[in-house]
Amino acid sequence: MRAIIDIMGQRFGRLLVMEPAGMDSNRAMTWRVRCDCGTEFITRGKALRYGSPKSCGCWKPRVDQRRKEHA
Ligand SMILES: [Zn+2]
Repeated sequence: MRAIIDIMGQRFGRLLVMEPAGMDSNRAMTWRVRCDCGTEFITRGKALRYGSPKSCGCWKPRVDQRRKEHA
């Protein structure tokens, strides 16, 4: 049994889930999302819930500048 997890209208980072976009080739549920910058694209619901894309790519967390050094 496969339950479709309804994430329509939910927000993940800068992405807002617009509508279901069917299954991809691996039969994974995909969703149309819209970034705060206005870019729309389709991504997997699983990826969203695991937090991998948080924007269309227009926004990148500044990780390189925060180097923690343990003395
Ligand atoms: Zn964007």
